Formats: sequence, structure tokens, C-alpha cells
Amino acid sequence: MTENEIPYKIYLSENEMPESWYNVRADMKNKPAPLLNPATHKPMTAQELGGVFCDELVRQELNDTDREIPIPKEIRDFYKMYRPSPLVRAYCLEKKLGTPAKIYYKFEGNNTSGSHKLNSAIAQAYYAKEQGLKGVTTETGAGQWGTALSMACAYLGLDCKVFMVKCSYEQKPFRREVMRTYGANVTPSPSETTEVGRKMLAEFPGTTGSLGCAISEAVEAAVTHEGYRYVLGSVLSQVLLHQSVIGVEAKTALDKYGIVPDIIIGCAGGGSNLGGLISPFMGEKLRGEHDYRFIAVEPASCPSLTRGVFAYDFCDTGKVCPLAKMYTLGSSFIPSANHAGGLRYHGMSAVLSQLYHDGLMEARSVEQTEVFRAAEFFARTEGILPAPESSHAIKAAIDEAKKCTETGESKTILFGLTGTGYFDMKAYEAYNDGKMQDYIPTDADLKKGIDGIPRFPGNDF
Ligand SMILES: *Cc1c(COP(=O)(O)O)cnc(C)c1O
Repeated sequence: MTENEIPYKIYLSENEMPESWYNVRADMKNKPAPLLNPATHKPMTAQELGGVFCDELVRQELNDTDREIPIPKEIRDFYKMYRPSPLVRAYCLEKKLGTPAKIYYKFEGNNTSGSHKLNSAIAQAYYAKEQGLKGVTTETGAGQWGTALSMACAYLGLDCKVFMVKCSYEQKPFRREVMRTYGANVTPSPSETTEVGRKMLAEFPGTTGSLGCAISEAVEAAVTHEGYRYVLGSVLSQVLLHQSVIGVEAKTALDKYGIVPDIIIGCAGGGSNLGGLISPFMGEKLRGEHDYRFIAVEPASCPSLTRGVFAYDFCDTGKVCPLAKMYTLGSSFIPSANHAGGLRYHGMSAVLSQLYHDGLMEARSVEQTEVFRAAEFFARTEGILPAPESSHAIKAAIDEAKKCTETGESKTILFGLTGTGYFDMKAYEAYNDGKMQDYIPTDADLKKGIDGIPRFPGNDF
């Protein structure tokens, strides 16, 4: 196949779409550490997890052995409404950069929620419905996950209660209204509707909330309402599993043209899009079949992989969730205001944390202004207005392409373009007005969060 025959967009037909998710844990020699009960420090049992999560999702969370997990037909049918997502050869970007690198991106913004989160939302809502539940509860920070879940719940006829971090609730009224249009019940967090919320409001009146606190409220709402379970849009291993649809599609499309990427890049908040994108490629690396470079890109303001510690930590501020072993900045860490709402989580997926710890993946952090410079450059060359989160990956991909210009190597780069930035125009406004600032926490700032990580025998860091 000659260069010119590779189209701008590589599509798959419906019958080339994946029928199974790929579970990378099956190929990991060092499995991610199990979730622990925060009171006993013993691994969470399926029964304990079943009080909070749907039964099938608990099975998926605990499944470290099955490589392929079939995607139920109903979910595949839903996927067909907005998938396969295009795999784009960034010819225009390459030309503008004058790089010998070949750049591809997998674009997940082609649905109303505007991001990859719908891939897991539909799966989680489906299993809740299958179990005969009335509804699900969740938190949302920037709003992408809440929007995706409300779409999935509307489709399946499930009730959806979303706790939205108060500052986003106020600053992003459009996201809130999209969710309400799909029938979700949206509550600003912290709220008076839960014990955790009331405690938070009493202790910190005027707080604009945090993702960790909204998680605690959503979990409490699930366990105190008959017929409800809690669902989470990132971090958990089941979410990475669902997001593997991104990687499996990308690999199928690349294989059609015999294209083998050298470097695979994704932004990393809780790790789900990156984990999903790299999964089948990482599988080959783990099985010794092929070597790839994987790069996780995180904001310098919330640098869990690059400056956090690898330890068991709480997943939420209220400390009601199980402990996860992950790279973390501490559950009390609150990143300075930044515009990549989806990348502000204090921890990282246990799967990606283990892979990073074992030297199978790299990580780097980038600052906000340079990310927006890359976003603007990308919008003007490739036409898509990227989400601030996704632009972290764009920045790293451009940097790698520029290195190729210097060395003359023509590496093949694949990156995940997770979503569109239409609801982030406040951030673009700050950038366009020259008012955007870079906040990098000092070591002393980080120490406060890390000091709050629980210490118990075996949790050394
Ligand atoms: C949520 C989100 C992210 C980060 O979440 P991951 O779980 O790390 O993938 C990245 N991009 C967009 C557009 C998002 O909505």
C-alpha cells in the first residue's frame, strides 16, 4: 500500500465493529492490586461490592483472567448509533508541522455527549437495567460523564441522579440543561440531600465542591435508595474494559492498511480513554509480540503519575469508597483551578498505575497555556475544536512529531482525541484574552495531600 492510498479517514463497516471488549488485565503478569475494604484492609468481596455496584459490573471489575469479554448485542446496537468512531490521518497537521512523522488520531467526539464517556455509560446503564434496577447515581465534574450517562439512561428508561460539582453546575449551565433534557435529576454538590454533603457544607460553608465529594454523595444516595446502584465514569477497571472498544476499533482499522504505530499517546485523568486506546496494543507488548511506546499526558496542575506516590488511597473525599492501589496525590488534594475538568482527579486507574510502575508506559505533564496553544493550532489545521482534556494528547503528539522533524525519522504516532470543546468556551475565552495562567503545585502543596494517604501495614510509600 503506498502512502497516498491511505485515506484521510479510515472507517470500519458495521460488521467490522468489535464484538468483544479486550481485558488487558488478562495479559498482565503483575495484576493490578485488589480494591481493599477501608475498614478491614482486606480485599473487597463481590458481595461487598454488590451493595454499591451492579452485579455484572462487579464481575467485570474482579475479572483479571478473561481476555475477551463479549459485548451484549443491545450495547453493540447502541454503539452503532455513533460508532465506529473515525480514525483520522492528520495529513493537514503533518503538512503544517513539516514533519516526516505520520500522525493518526481516533476521534471520540462524534456524539451529543461530546466524548468517549458514552462507551462506558451505555454498558453500565445496560447492566443496571438487566438487573432490574430503578436507576443509577453518579457524580460529574466537568459534565461529560453526567451527560453521557443521562443519554444512556434515557435510552434504556432508567432513572439517573447526577451530583454535579457546584462550580461546574453554576459555570456550565448548558451541560446541566443537556442532562436535564435527557431526563436526569441534577443536584449541585455538596448538597443538603446527603449526610456527607451536609457535613461538608457545615465544615466548609461556601465551598464550590470537588469531584471527590460528589462521589461520596452519589455513593451515599445509591446505598440509601432502594433499587439504585452507583456508577463511575473513569478509574475503575470495568470502565477501562468498556473503553477498549476505542483501541480494538483503532487496531482493526490500522491493520486493514498494515499500519503499525510506534508511539501511542493519550491524555490521562482517571485513565479510561488512554487505557482503552492502548489495551490491545499493550496486550501485544505484554505477550512479547510487539513493542510500542505508550505516553500518558497529564496536567502539570494535577500530576498524579509524574509526581504522586504508588499507594493504597481513598477514591473519594468522604472516604466511603474502597481503597485502590494507584498513583495518587492524596484524596484531600484539590488541584488549583484549571480548565481541563476531566483531568482533575487525584488518583489514576489501578491498571495503568501498575503498568506505569512496571515501566511499560511513560508519563509526562504539560502546562495549561501550552496545551491551549496546541489546541488552537490543531483547530486551525485539522478543523476540530478539541476538548481541553484531549488537547493534552495533541500537545504531546505535536512534540513527538517535532522531534521527528529534527531527527528525520518518520515515526507513526497514534493519539486519542477524546472529545470536543464546545462547552469549554470559557476556557478558550481566557486563553484568547491572554488571561490563562499556569498553576504548578509546589512540593509543599503536594506534601499536604500525600500526608493524608492512609498508613497501615503493607501500605508503604
Ligand atoms: C473525562 C474526560 C477525559 C479524562 O478521563 P479518562 O478517564 O482519563 O479518559 C478526557 N477527555 C475528555 C473529553 C473527557 O470527557
